[in-house]
Amino acid sequence: MTAGPTPPAAAPAPLSLSAIRAAQRAWAAEPLESRCAHLREIGRRFAARADDVARVVCEETRKHPADAWFADVVPNLDLFTWWTGPGRKPLLPKKLPLSSLAHPGKRAVLHTEPRGVVGLITPWNYPAAIPLRTLVPALLAGNAVLFKPSEVTPRTGALLAEIFSSVLPSGVLTLVQGAREAGEQVVDLSDHVVFTGSVATGRRVGERCASQLKSVSLELGGKDAAIVLRDCDLERTVDGVLWGAVTNSGQNCAAIERVYVEAAIYDRFVGRLLARAEGLQVAPVATEAQDRIVREHLAEAESLGATLHGEYPGGAVILTDVPEGARILVDETFGPVCPVVRVDDGDAALRLANASEFGLTLSIWTRSEARAQELAARARAGVVTINNVALTASMPFAPWSGRGASGHGATNSEWALREMTQPKVVLVDDNRAPEPWWLPADDAAVRLARLSLEWLRASGPARLAATLRVVRGLKARTRQQAGRSGTG
Ligand code: NAD
Repeated sequence: MTAGPTPPAAAPAPLSLSAIRAAQRAWAAEPLESRCAHLREIGRRFAARADDVARVVCEETRKHPADAWFADVVPNLDLFTWWTGPGRKPLLPKKLPLSSLAHPGKRAVLHTEPRGVVGLITPWNYPAAIPLRTLVPALLAGNAVLFKPSEVTPRTGALLAEIFSSVLPSGVLTLVQGAREAGEQVVDLSDHVVFTGSVATGRRVGERCASQLKSVSLELGGKDAAIVLRDCDLERTVDGVLWGAVTNSGQNCAAIERVYVEAAIYDRFVGRLLARAEGLQVAPVATEAQDRIVREHLAEAESLGATLHGEYPGGAVILTDVPEGARILVDETFGPVCPVVRVDDGDAALRLANASEFGLTLSIWTRSEARAQELAARARAGVVTINNVALTASMPFAPWSGRGASGHGATNSEWALREMTQPKVVLVDDNRAPEPWWLPADDAAVRLARLSLEWLRASGPARLAATLRVVRGLKARTRQQAGRSGTG
């Protein structure tokens, strides 16, 4: 098997950080509406190049064009529309609610500033969709971006960078090609890092960021479970679970990698699943390394007594009788495999689902929403879908986040935007009197502090009397301070 195209030699060219910082400052100084206009134009150009994007993605990852179109192309149009519309609102200045009694003469506004340079390091499995969901909000917020695509998919990365750079001012987006060394360079040059990839690399990136006191968002692996309850719509559930397991040849962080089925429906579910999977053609996985992992997991499961139905590579493999502890039920496989496990009930299923070190998404298949909501509330996962799977990754307004080894931080939504920005409060004081807690620090100051505490604790009719005492106390304090300083 040949892996994707040979990556360029991993010797990143020296980057001019000062030029990038200058470009970032100019970009951030543009009005928000101007940055939105740039991004809308990029969205139009991305749509115009949709065929090229889908073709290059397929060439580099070997995925089926349907997977490329539905995951890497179509949902991204909505991404541009949402971020430049309702999604931009958290970036607008916000007046803070200062009380005129507690803070007389003052007003304050919360501004949102970009972090500066955002380092974006991405994997190969969705080489257009994953970069886009960070590129758009990072740029919208006024950051410059250092974008390092996976070394397996350099041409998809280059195509995205070309589309963006055809609209953006020079230096706002910088493409960094290469593997580990290039990724480390991106970490070292960035103010904030958004990393999507494996747990092992994520740990290294997290450690490197920590040693440089840099914030980082880590979107890592998964071992997502599906819970199938006895009252599910059997046909649709089988279709959904099978798709969730084999879409993108299983190379999806939110792929269904474990299916827990209530005993009452287990035999019927497995029967239908085997019938639907029979003869299914599945595209090869993207790299030799990935192929090795899939083969190892299948071989180990078989050696432990599991029954394998179906062919790998080329088709989907359904596994039954897999003993607990087998790697295929524990470690991320990232291949077109679907182990199905019989459980007593939904609670037993949830216990097993939650027992994983990972915690990315969980799907629950049932006609009883109440029961599903009750399980969802106890699920250790950042996303729970009831009667669907992996759907929200393409929704720019739905935060995508993991628990445990699946990482921390969020992509998509205001939660992601907050990570790529910093708050700045600007307060203006029109009050001419000195603050009561300013000098002198004496017994009169302590008396006023006590009155203030009484006022804060008072409620009902006592509140009015306490207010009057505080107002009188404040006046006296102002007179006292004016007398001491000899002004007023
Ligand atoms: P990977 O960890 O091998 O590589 C990811 C990126 O990190 C690549 O660009 C790589 O060049 C770069 N890199 C490698 N070493 C580095 C270092 N020391 N410092 C900085 N960067 C470095 O992952 P992969 O094989 O490309 O992707 C598959 C993994 O990604 C799977 O585990 C999958 O679950 C995960 N993933 C997670 C999500 C999510 O949202 N949680 C989404 C997609 C994929």
